[in-house]
Amino acid sequence: MELETEKLHIFFLPFLAPGHMIPMIDMARLFSARGVQTTIVTTTANASLITPTLHTANSVTTTPINLLLLPFPSVEVELPSGQENLLHFPTPDVPDPFLTAINLLETPFKLLLHQHHPDCIISDVFFTWSASLGVPRIAFHGSSFFTNVISGVVSRLKLHDFISGDQEPFLVPGLPHQITLTKSQLPDMLLNENHELRVQMGESVRRSFGFIGNSFYHLEHDYVDRLKSFGMKLWNVGPVSLCNKDELDMTARGGSGLMSKNSVQVNECAVWLAKKRRNSVLYVSFGSLTRFTKAQLKEIAAGLEISGHPFIWVVKDDNNVDEWMPDGFKERVLDEKKGMIVFGWAPQVLLLNQAEVGGFVTHCGWNSCLESICAGVPMITWPMFAEQSFNEKLIVDVLKVGVALGVKVCSSKEEERVLVKREEIRKAVEELMGDGEEKVRRRRRVEELKEMAKKAVEEGGTSYEDLSNLIEELVELKKKKKKKSDGIM
Ligand code: UDP
Repeated sequence: MELETEKLHIFFLPFLAPGHMIPMIDMARLFSARGVQTTIVTTTANASLITPTLHTANSVTTTPINLLLLPFPSVEVELPSGQENLLHFPTPDVPDPFLTAINLLETPFKLLLHQHHPDCIISDVFFTWSASLGVPRIAFHGSSFFTNVISGVVSRLKLHDFISGDQEPFLVPGLPHQITLTKSQLPDMLLNENHELRVQMGESVRRSFGFIGNSFYHLEHDYVDRLKSFGMKLWNVGPVSLCNKDELDMTARGGSGLMSKNSVQVNECAVWLAKKRRNSVLYVSFGSLTRFTKAQLKEIAAGLEISGHPFIWVVKDDNNVDEWMPDGFKERVLDEKKGMIVFGWAPQVLLLNQAEVGGFVTHCGWNSCLESICAGVPMITWPMFAEQSFNEKLIVDVLKVGVALGVKVCSSKEEERVLVKREEIRKAVEELMGDGEEKVRRRRRVEELKEMAKKAVEEGGTSYEDLSNLIEELVELKKKKKKKSDGIM
């Protein structure tokens, strides 16, 4: 249903990493489906990650999504030309020159504001400057509200004063659930009380018109209510991935720019999957930024083999396969079609939604967690870095739809993480897949969440209504502004 949008125009400014861009494009689609004029602003080299989605999305909407490109200041920050996405760096940490470039984008972005006069900017929290441009800014964090609450609590704990060991468990105080963490599971940002970027992000969120989330109320209502009780204005409009309804949408997501030329074709996967039993296949993928040591890749391969379940494993790098693939693995497992490796980029939402896929080994990126829930697929949780260990707690301890692999050390640097052995992987797979009372119960719970997610985005659902309310508020704001400039107020 389209709302009376008074030609509302929104700029979407996603951070330059797939896990941030993908949900924001989905979000733009949701607004555009309600008749809002939407424009995604990104840098030139990132266009190829977006255009396939815009192509399919714009073929079915009466309000097409526009794309505006900013020149990336490669020369100024001394980065190679075209290196405009976090994906192209060796670790998921945001390098200083990249952050400087993000800050330098303010000037060309202001030019676009003068040319196009949007009524609102939905901006990733990384663009801290977008809160000071005289246009209402809505902050997008890209994670759960659960994570937001925990991050806030943990950052104020002064852990160094009362926790000595990195692996000494502590209870996060004042939460509705018993959540235990260790320092070694926390992102660096939270260990340093005065982390500059975190402080700037917090300040810019406070200067924002509100906060928009990719989640749904009933998934984490305790935490949404808690943030609201602090006076935070927020709208929960997800899961946004549910706007990808048909195969074309799901395949285009993430864009052709990420497809490896050596990728196993989606069709090949589909033919292979079709011969498998319902819920028998494990999907194994660790998002867009995770890297592994060769020793870890070898253990994953061996763990999947001894688990005996068919699998689709997405491996980001197709170089030097011989250096980590166990002897005979190719012949025994891949050639025998016991499992498939997709090198590069896989259409994750499409694969998760195949009836044969019954488990997901995930690094607990928030998008992946939500996409698994939306597909009704329980998870094996293997957090790697950033806030992923918090998402693990939500999935395993609160929602009870996952089996934890038991990772105690998270780090953005693969060599700092503790090697997870093949036997640990096998055990977790055994605990998740197949029949058995708790497995059936877990599967039922995730199915229930899947239904709740679907309802949330349907007309009358909580996310649908939050989106309506946000659009109405922005329309009112626009009317007021107009009256003021016409001298009526
Ligand atoms: N994704 C995908 N194919 C891949 C890897 C990732 O479609 O081969 C998508 C995935 O569906 C999700 C996003 O990329 O929407 C990754 O976001 P997430 O928050 O899970 O992890 P991040 O990449 O930010 O660590």
